[in-house]
Amino acid sequence: MERPIPQDVASLLIKSRSAVVLSLINAALVATVVSDGLGQTTMALWLGGSALIFAVVGAFAYRAGPPKVPRITPRVLRGLHVGAIAMALPWGVLCILALSLGGPAEQVVAMVVCAGTMAGSALVLLRVIRVAATFYLAMLLPCAAACLAANADHLWPIPVSLSLFGVYLLAAANTAGTKARERDISAADARRTVVELETAYETISKLAFFDITTDLPNRKGFVQRMDDLMEGGEDARPAFALFMLDLDRFKNVNDTLGHHVGDRLLAIVAERLRSQIDDDDMLARLGGDEFAVLVTSAHTPEALEALALKLVTCLNSPATIGSHEVYPGTSIGGARYPDDAGDSGDLMKHADIALHRAKESGRGCFVLFDESIRGEIARRDWIESELKTALASGQLRVAYQPKYDLLTGEVLGAEALVRWTHPLEGPIEPGEFLSVAAERGLIYRVTCSIVTEIARDLAAWRREGVDIGKIAMNLHPLDLKSPTDLLASLDSFAADGLDPRALILEVTEGCIVGRGMDCTPMLLDELSERGFEISLDDFGTGYASLSHLFKMPIREIKVDRSFIRGLTRSTTDRAVVSATVEIARELDLQVVAEGVETIEQVEALRALGVHSAQGFFWSGPISPREFEHIARIGTALEPSRSAKAG
Ligand code: C2E
Ligand code: CA
Ligand code: CA
Repeated sequence: MERPIPQDVASLLIKSRSAVVLSLINAALVATVVSDGLGQTTMALWLGGSALIFAVVGAFAYRAGPPKVPRITPRVLRGLHVGAIAMALPWGVLCILALSLGGPAEQVVAMVVCAGTMAGSALVLLRVIRVAATFYLAMLLPCAAACLAANADHLWPIPVSLSLFGVYLLAAANTAGTKARERDISAADARRTVVELETAYETISKLAFFDITTDLPNRKGFVQRMDDLMEGGEDARPAFALFMLDLDRFKNVNDTLGHHVGDRLLAIVAERLRSQIDDDDMLARLGGDEFAVLVTSAHTPEALEALALKLVTCLNSPATIGSHEVYPGTSIGGARYPDDAGDSGDLMKHADIALHRAKESGRGCFVLFDESIRGEIARRDWIESELKTALASGQLRVAYQPKYDLLTGEVLGAEALVRWTHPLEGPIEPGEFLSVAAERGLIYRVTCSIVTEIARDLAAWRREGVDIGKIAMNLHPLDLKSPTDLLASLDSFAADGLDPRALILEVTEGCIVGRGMDCTPMLLDELSERGFEISLDDFGTGYASLSHLFKMPIREIKVDRSFIRGLTRSTTDRAVVSATVEIARELDLQVVAEGVETIEQVEALRALGVHSAQGFFWSGPISPREFEHIARIGTALEPSRSAKAG
């Protein structure tokens, strides 16, 4: 016997309403039929009592039943049993009256009526079988008691056969009740599944368009809103602006205080920004520490600038998270629709470029996209496409800037510097095309092309038997971000039978620290194990901590030319160079001064104990053939002031 479920009790209560009415009719009929044999007064009393009981039970069933969903508490179950006993009682009394006062005709009527009531009640109570059992017991026990009291053997078949009939009915009702329950359960399951699926769908749609950390629309939701705005027919198209924001110090917070503080900071930033914008403007988190605002409330550059200032200012005050005080800070780039772009993709790209400009200008700046930026984009697009042609047709060359021993004047080697002479445009600055290559994913191909050039020149010099010393090659931070590509391009160097020890790899502090540079120490170890020497370029211009830097397998430091420039005038620059020499001596590293242009600088460097240098004083970057010539002479005690060509 299974525990009843609410649907079982609900079905019982509904059916019991009609059962009460039927029982009343039945009782009235029976009373009429047997009143001659059992006495009219007796039957009138019986009918009156029965009607009262049925009415009370009916009222309870009506009040407790649907549309209320009954909860299955012990009290409810008790109530059901009491109701069943009450409903059975009149029929039990009828049995007693028929067996004790009536003749065979009344007894047969009582037996048939009881059997019929049992069958009928089985239909009503089939889903709560224990209540059906109570009902039968409440009817049969008085019947059996009456038999006992009458002490008449011929009466015993009545309760016995009713009991057998009852057992049979209980078994059949139980089977039917179980099936009905299963049907209800699976229907409820199906309904629950539908509700769960609907909830899941809502959550998924919310997650697809919302960011749960800040409860703001995400990139997808934001772009969709922008597209919707842009799609409103030609006339209805509203003018609006897009702001892109990038938090200044979020990475630091995440790295040093943990992700939970980072997440909290994002939520605080979202709240502050929301409080500054108009209700019609839309704020979104695009991902990481990037936010965006779709501005419909301001249009002129002046109004946009004023809004941007409000946003920058609201993120300048510290946020308290637990025991920490965090300064979020932001830079903002903006672009306007339809003035600056015709679709959401271009609008975001242009706002992003403006954001980069803003970050370059320093923290907390706002830059609005304008014609000069558009001209710059066109130039970069052109460089990208021309650079691809240049890479495919082998237009990139390498120039070598000799490196000298400051004491002996001996040529120690050279730094290889990439050169690109465009067939129509002429020479293009490495700084310019390398930055386009970095932005457009072409660094790997540039590096491969440089390694190939250097390997070819080295192979030629080896064949000719010229000792050119070591060649230093510059690595881009992106080279170190894709170790597999870098190792593959350097493999080609070794495959040409060249000794890795002939190559120095110059890395900057920016290559070693910063976003996504976690694997760099391992990569540098691997490179150094392969025999390549590592040199730290532009030393003094980065922000890396010395202890961090010198855990790397670095063999050489190149003092940035900004310190060499002021060497003879600025005591600070002199102090930096002197301290660098000290550190290098302690750690057994080579020091190279770069950008040496005057004899005074040469002498100052010698006095400070720097042993090697390069610069226009001796030679700018020159062609492989010119460098070979210099290397063959071997020394430059009389510096060549003429060789300054790039
Ligand atoms: P860098 O590695 O610091 O290279 C030295 C730069 O200083 C070169 O500029 C060189 O021409 C210039 N220079 C050399 N001596 C003097 C001097 O006495 N005075 C002055 N004022 N400048 C001097 P370049 O060739 O324009 O290269 C600029 C930067 O571009 C390089 O800075 C380097 O970061 C990058 N670069 C150049 N070639 C490559 C390359 O093949 N691969 C990579 N990844 N980057 C390169
Ligand atoms: Ca360099
Ligand atoms: Ca340098």
